[in-house]
Amino acid sequence: MSEVKSAARYRPETRLVHSGTLRSQYGETSEALFLTQGFIYDSAEQCEARFKGEEQGFLYSRFSNPTVAMFERRMIELEGAEAARATATGMAAVTTAVLAPLKTGDHVVAAKALFGSCRYVVEDLLPRYGITSTLVDGLDLDQWKAAMRPNTKTCFLESPTNPTLDVLDISAIADIAHKGGARLVVDNVFATPIWQSPLTLGADVVVYSATKHIDGQGRCLGGVILSSEAFINEHIHNFMRQTGPSMSPFNAWVLLKGLETLGVRVRAQTETAGKLADVLAKHPKISRLIYPGRADHPQAGVVKKQMRAGSTLIGLEVAGGKAGAFRCLNALKLSRISNNLGDAKSLVTHPATTTHQRLTPDARAELGISEGFIRYSAGLEHVDDLIEDFEQALAAV
Ligand SMILES: *Cc1c(COP(=O)(O)O)cnc(C)c1O
Repeated sequence: MSEVKSAARYRPETRLVHSGTLRSQYGETSEALFLTQGFIYDSAEQCEARFKGEEQGFLYSRFSNPTVAMFERRMIELEGAEAARATATGMAAVTTAVLAPLKTGDHVVAAKALFGSCRYVVEDLLPRYGITSTLVDGLDLDQWKAAMRPNTKTCFLESPTNPTLDVLDISAIADIAHKGGARLVVDNVFATPIWQSPLTLGADVVVYSATKHIDGQGRCLGGVILSSEAFINEHIHNFMRQTGPSMSPFNAWVLLKGLETLGVRVRAQTETAGKLADVLAKHPKISRLIYPGRADHPQAGVVKKQMRAGSTLIGLEVAGGKAGAFRCLNALKLSRISNNLGDAKSLVTHPATTTHQRLTPDARAELGISEGFIRYSAGLEHVDDLIEDFEQALAAV
């Protein structure tokens, strides 16, 4: 087997197709799927040397597999990280990146506006192990500063946030974290690696749910943690090796093929989202519309500073509260009701009754998730079909 191929000197589009390719002796065009749990050795001596780390090579797919290594390498070169570990799901990436480096007595500061399960990790899981946390309004830098304590080890945020698409100032928050001796972990799912590179903005760790845009075709779950060699070696490698929240080779193969088309898909979906947002913003039955690519986005200045383009997602509030939102969702024919996002198929979600139903009504109100709020994920359909579908659905509201 030849060396993992580096395409780091090329532009991102080229890296998405070529980085990390590891060809076998057959010279296959497409990346090979090494659907194997383990590996065999030529001799007991070689096996011993591999286990001692004296000889490079694969041992067991819980912690290393050629197809998973290709996916990790492609992500490393896309993101500009030093090292990465692929995980079974996005939540495995978040849980591992947040929990693995911490111990009893440590403190976490996180933005309140988090994906529901991420909030569970911070609010419910960490305290069981004596790790306390403070949740802040992520847009308010003074709250981040005030929340820092001598034992704060990790700051955690996502931007744009799910589902209200607030855009948090990553470099300013990284500064606050670093002054306080903490690291910043950024969940970059909504921005995608195409539009935002948190490591270049000062973040220390980036996590993805690869289930979303990276697969982008609704097939499998996956996640990835990207950071420095030091962070991965010190905090993540052994935790993953011993506890096993690992990505399957099959999923790594699907996701590798997903990466080849990530740039094309995200660009097309963003263009569609932008056009749809402009149409819906003027619609009388839409009472509020949030789209990071529009000049009227509340943090338009931060968007310009840290993102290369808007988003494949739109936040909108339908007139008539929950009943209005449900009528619109039920009347849509093309855009389907689902809790996934970043898919080739346009998907629509009602966060108050799904992804954020675990929160109290007050906590939801605080985040701006009203009963009429809808999260829209633009797919790859023709934009005019999506607009026409929305127009007939809103006529039913
Ligand atoms: C979906 C999602 C996750 C969790 O990813 P899974 O692959 O579903 O486990 C985490 N963070 C954000 C922002 C997400 O959208």
